[in-house]
Amino acid sequence: MLVDHLRWLERECLPLETVALRDLERYMGIVGAEVLMPLGEPWRLGKKPYGKDALSVAAACLKGFYLHRASLGVNTALGMALNVSRLPTRVDRDRALLGHVIQTMPSNPLAPKRPRRRHPKMLPEGAREGLISVVNAARDRLTVDWLSDGGFRIGELCGLHLPDLHLREGARCGECRAPHVHICHRIGNSNQAAAKTKYPWSLEDGVITGGLIKRVSPQMVHSYFDYMTSEYPRDPAHDMLMVQLHGPRTGQP
Ligand SMILES: [Zn+2]
Repeated sequence: MLVDHLRWLERECLPLETVALRDLERYMGIVGAEVLMPLGEPWRLGKKPYGKDALSVAAACLKGFYLHRASLGVNTALGMALNVSRLPTRVDRDRALLGHVIQTMPSNPLAPKRPRRRHPKMLPEGAREGLISVVNAARDRLTVDWLSDGGFRIGELCGLHLPDLHLREGARCGECRAPHVHICHRIGNSNQAAAKTKYPWSLEDGVITGGLIKRVSPQMVHSYFDYMTSEYPRDPAHDMLMVQLHGPRTGQP
């Protein structure tokens, strides 16, 4: 992200010594933030604008970079404009260790404004039962069971290959007695899914070892066999668990 920003500075002929907060706001706008100002010539042609999380990362990246420059005596005016703080909210105090003594919170004028999520995104109580009662395919039942019991990321579930599944006790890998799966990062899966975790793994004599090992519940084994014996495509050429995704790279099964 920093390299992209530095390239943009060069194209705009903005030297690091004189670039101003307004220029940075314009940059944030041109990569996807909502800002009300003319943005100038297009940038990153053919690429998707940054989403909220990427914008937050870009904002933190720019602030860190320019604060460091300011600490070296370069463009201290911009450093002061970026180095602002705000009063803590009740949520900030609840989240922080020793929150009751917090006086100020760091604030980033470039960061996108958004309501902060209080908890990680989780299914509400009873959602699993509700979902199971309306899905009408073994594959969808498998998806609900595996995501909720296994705690998989969507990319992890959709990127599973059949050799990654060690669903019986005492599998040949010798790495876990209970039924489990090995989450292996692969590029080039036919459905474009990929696990984010990149633990080293290997395939020897047809047995997967390594990767991120996750245990499998009896209900997951049950819905797996239900799917394999009823709907799994009888195409010997492919060995992925989840064959189609509805949208490329969005990961939504
Ligand atoms: Zn194993």
